[in-house]
Amino acid sequence: MSDAELVLRSTRVITPEGTRAASVAVADGTITAVLPYDAPVPAGARLEDLGDDVLLPGLVDTHVHVNDPGRTEWEGFWTATRAAAAGGITTLVDMPLNSLPPTTTVDHLRTKQRVAADKAHVDVGFWGGALPDNVKDLRPLHEAGVFGFKAFLSPSGVDEFPHLDQEQLARSLAEIAAFDGLLIVHAEDPHHLAAAPQPAGPKYADFLASRPRDAEDTAIAHLVDQAKRLGARVHVLHLSSGDALPLIAAAKADGVRVTVETCPHYLTLTAEEVPDGASEFKCCPPIREAANQDLLWQALADGTIDCVVTDHSPSTADLKTDDFSTAWGGISGLQLSLPAVWTEARRRGHGLEDVVRWMSTRTAELAGLDARKGAIAPGRDADFAVLAPDETFTVDPAALQHRNPVTAYAGRTLYGVVRSTWLRGRRIVAGGEFTEPKGRLLTRSH
Ligand SMILES: [Zn+2]
Repeated sequence: MSDAELVLRSTRVITPEGTRAASVAVADGTITAVLPYDAPVPAGARLEDLGDDVLLPGLVDTHVHVNDPGRTEWEGFWTATRAAAAGGITTLVDMPLNSLPPTTTVDHLRTKQRVAADKAHVDVGFWGGALPDNVKDLRPLHEAGVFGFKAFLSPSGVDEFPHLDQEQLARSLAEIAAFDGLLIVHAEDPHHLAAAPQPAGPKYADFLASRPRDAEDTAIAHLVDQAKRLGARVHVLHLSSGDALPLIAAAKADGVRVTVETCPHYLTLTAEEVPDGASEFKCCPPIREAANQDLLWQALADGTIDCVVTDHSPSTADLKTDDFSTAWGGISGLQLSLPAVWTEARRRGHGLEDVVRWMSTRTAELAGLDARKGAIAPGRDADFAVLAPDETFTVDPAALQHRNPVTAYAGRTLYGVVRSTWLRGRRIVAGGEFTEPKGRLLTRSH
């Protein structure tokens, strides 16, 4: 490690082989070695002694709606990446919708990259979008470096991003399979949604009844069938229905190329506790009952669910009305995802290693970023979060960095204080102080 510029030392470093006392050597923004705790610090290298704070790989959040440009009053690259950094996230992948333009052509991708370039406090990549009329744009977007393509099977909530019917899904998926790309899917079946009681007013129970589990289960069953028929790679976004888990487990056992994510709000909040009128808890699919939540945790434990991502999807506060039928659907979780998930994980007997696997290692794999991200190991980027896992804090919306600090977690006491976050060997935030943004724009070839 003679060329190391920086050594981070902690009694608890989370590596792929487990948690141990270690010294992590860094040169040129890359981890060069994971050494014994008391290894001598080379001449010229700076030692950062973290004591008993845990050193973990920076989180990789593959489901973030930054909305920039076009709906920057909702969120933007500057604020979203600050919230990410403050929460221990060092890489985010931006969703193709809610910005104007949506990321559905190479030109639109270039526009988004231009806007993000000098505002990114963390590394940023992009998903493309699969619309009914852009099949011809998919391969060029793939070659331009998007990580995969998002599609909706039911209305998306914004007019410029229409959903695919089954025939359109088959066409897009066949094209994506032809270059062995990845389709990531918002899976709720529009016919089941249309047949459900329509939501009205402030009662959460009415909203929940309008987005039944069988809408998810049916859409996922169709998606799995199509993936199997085409040999295509698909990913189920924000799984909420525990009833879909047996068919997902069966598909995986059958060799279907399907992965699944869920979100902090499904794992930590329950329908029983959502107050009527509290649309900061509104998202689609919805937060369901406590018994359903137990199924999601079981599926994380047994590997049926692969990873946990935020689905950070903010809007301005005025769109979060007390009427669940019209309020914007989306929960803003970037800055709080690690402590929220960790708090519930520890209560259920999971270790921080599990949380790192779900929120960093596997999400890096999902996006194909695992050569550089997702683990503390030689050759990976020196991206870290430093966490005090046994310290608690009470969520104060005023301390949140995203543009409109509406949060479903206000007033909650959470375990896990992020002391600092590091990107390629550079501390990007500590104690609420940020350095200038030097995040990179990532493409699939990275
Ligand atoms: Zn989303």
